[in-house]
Amino acid sequence: NADVALNRAKEEGRNNFQFYTQDMEAGVFRRLTMEANLRRALKRDEFLLVYQPKICTRTGRIVGLEALVRWAPPGKPLVSPAEFIPVAEQTGLIVPLGRWILREACAFAQECRAAGRPDLTVAVNLSARQFHERALLADVAAALTESGLPPANLELEITESMVMSEAEEAIETLRRLKAMGLSISVDDFGTGYSSLSYLKRFPLDALKIDQGFVRDLTTDAEDRSIVAAIISLARSLGLQVVAEGVETADHLDHLAAGGCDLVQGYLISRPLPQDEAQAFLRHHADGWDPAASLGVGP
Ligand code: C2E
Ligand code: MG
Ligand code: MG
Ligand code: MG
Repeated sequence: NADVALNRAKEEGRNNFQFYTQDMEAGVFRRLTMEANLRRALKRDEFLLVYQPKICTRTGRIVGLEALVRWAPPGKPLVSPAEFIPVAEQTGLIVPLGRWILREACAFAQECRAAGRPDLTVAVNLSARQFHERALLADVAAALTESGLPPANLELEITESMVMSEAEEAIETLRRLKAMGLSISVDDFGTGYSSLSYLKRFPLDALKIDQGFVRDLTTDAEDRSIVAAIISLARSLGLQVVAEGVETADHLDHLAAGGCDLVQGYLISRPLPQDEAQAFLRHHADGWDPAASLGVGP
């Protein structure tokens, strides 16, 4: 009857609420623990950058490296940025962490220049909070000045959602960054919401096709259409187009034939620690050679 039903509903409601708070507490607890750990990690210098090469589909030349952050807690396996970047974002720790990333990447880019690759660009991912933070321009300028890296050797990766949310403000920030002489690319392109009329107004240099469209490129007709559409969009806007997540020779062949300028992915190389990235650059100094893997050359 009605009373029984009401009591059950209350009971279930209570239980649901309990489950809800328990989950929430676990979430908050995890976040707080992670936050404390990250804060300490930053003090103790436990972060490092790995670098993934990007090659030109026409010449095979390695034109750039993307810096990707890792957390290396002592005695434990590396932690993926997918786990700690969101926490760093929420807590604001991304600002000092991002500052360190910029400095470290610029210093390494300058080392690569000194080692015989003066034209190499190093790309740094920006997070939303970092992008909207007032300190960004000063942080970028400081990283360039301290390292002595020419701005032309630095590229910043942003995402669609970062710039579309407050477009007018974003256009201004991008203009200032571009005025410093560096270049800007849009990461994970195609997964966010982009207004095409805004896209035209943003001072951009490149679109990076999200790896989700590349994965099944050779078997999925829709992905193939999307990739072709992004390449043609980039073309008509005068932007370079980069494909990420290139894992097979078929991916590469298809993208090269379709007019994609640059590619990046496990086929060419996994992200590498500094010294291995340097070795990779030396080893493929005349262009990436799929037949010449590291360590087995003459
Ligand atoms: P992203 O910028 O789109 O980076 C590409 C991700 O794909 C990297 O994962 C890279 O290791 C991985 N990847 C590269 N080639 C392949 C491939 O052929 N196949 C597959 N399946 N994956 C590939 P990672 O390093 O775990 O980074 C994940 C995301 O975390 C990045 O996506 C970026 O959004 C963020 N992130 C990484 N480093 C930083 C950083 O220094 N600052 C900020 N704000 N975000 C970062
Ligand atoms: Mg990226
Ligand atoms: Mg991406
Ligand atoms: Mg990304």
